[in-house]
Amino acid sequence: MKLYNTLSRQIEELKPINPPSVSVYTCGPTVYDYPHIGNWFTFIRYDLLIRTLMLSGLRPNWVMNITDVGHLTSDADEGEDKLAKGAAREGKTAWEIADYYTDYFVKGLKRLNFIQPTNLPRATDHINDQINFIIELEKKGYTYRISDGIYYDTAKFAHYADFARLDLEELQPGARVEQNPEKHHQSDFALWKFSPTDKSRDMEWDSPWGKGFPGWHIECSAMCLNYLGETVDIHCGGIDHIPIHHTNEIAQSQAVTGKPLAHIWLHTNHILIDDLKISKSLGNGITLEDIEKAGFSLDAFRLLVIESQYRSQSKFSWDSLQAASNRLLRFKNFAVRRYQATDGLTETPPKLIEAMQNDLDTPSALAILEDYLDRNEHRNLSAASITDTINLIDKLFGLDLTSTPDISEHAKSLIKARMDARQNQDWPRADNLRERLARDNIAVRDEPQGSVWYYLS
Ligand SMILES: [Zn+2]
Repeated sequence: MKLYNTLSRQIEELKPINPPSVSVYTCGPTVYDYPHIGNWFTFIRYDLLIRTLMLSGLRPNWVMNITDVGHLTSDADEGEDKLAKGAAREGKTAWEIADYYTDYFVKGLKRLNFIQPTNLPRATDHINDQINFIIELEKKGYTYRISDGIYYDTAKFAHYADFARLDLEELQPGARVEQNPEKHHQSDFALWKFSPTDKSRDMEWDSPWGKGFPGWHIECSAMCLNYLGETVDIHCGGIDHIPIHHTNEIAQSQAVTGKPLAHIWLHTNHILIDDLKISKSLGNGITLEDIEKAGFSLDAFRLLVIESQYRSQSKFSWDSLQAASNRLLRFKNFAVRRYQATDGLTETPPKLIEAMQNDLDTPSALAILEDYLDRNEHRNLSAASITDTINLIDKLFGLDLTSTPDISEHAKSLIKARMDARQNQDWPRADNLRERLARDNIAVRDEPQGSVWYYLS
């Protein structure tokens, strides 16, 4: 299996450390609000990676963290804690916000047919691990203290700029607004933030440095080490994680272990709406509920995600969702052919896995599938052949085609009656029955081997 590795800027062969096990760490959601579809795009792409690994005979050990503390409104440690912001917005405590949106996210994974991650650890359940990690960094001389917290001294980590190929000159004071003047270097980041002295926070813990809470980056280093060991096979995130969050994770982890944090770094590109990145502040944060309210299924949304390769900048529009929905209907109408086929021709499933093993090339995999359908849609395939193909599609893409239902016995009797009417050249009755079936979302097409029914929507 080949994947593009951000570390080398090259496509590389995946070589798991302990095959068939393969360790995967994916940076998870910050649970302070409803995720928008841009967030789900990213997570579905991780799921496609996991599915491809499984179909390649590997056993993914997949850890996705839940960020429920420490992620400030700017990824670079400025602004307020997102959880505190959510709490203020909804008049709840940060703990209530974290519980509510964690629960919502976990349910979303099920609604979108995700493979369940092996572990979904919450940052607040691993405060001691994070404190211990900071203690290790402190012992090795990578930290310093200023008035609002303990910081990582990025100048001490010689390779700090390598991963993102950063130009540290550009990060000097003055290059950005809103910087903390006490920081030694602009790229330094908080490991532990102190609670304000005049009030208590909803989320705060005692530490060797005083009451406070961990920074966002340290949670991933600590939980990655805790669940997956010093080096993971694949570490995933969005491309916006490269210059700050992942650069900082590497600086922390490699300073402590002296080992590479990950062999392959996989990053997914943005999704745009009207050429803009999706964000809450732009007001284009479409949610799963918006998709459903507009009359689309979440399976259609999933297929829309699959249509673009994860490294390309993809675009969302309601028209493109409609097109994905139409495409899904075509797949479903192929799936229901197995209820109608008895003996038929044997055909091997399309070679989708091979396309996915080539850096998760979903557009090529879909093109192969479309080509397979073009060739076979009007052939009399055996039920077993159809079942094999839709099982493969479901395992690889999670589209749940196998649960597309059969029609009722009553509908089948109407189809039989329509055939009889046509044989008797009773056209008004045949038309009448066709309309009756259409009201139940069923249509009939006459093919050489007989009538074939399919769903209209
Ligand atoms: Zn992370």
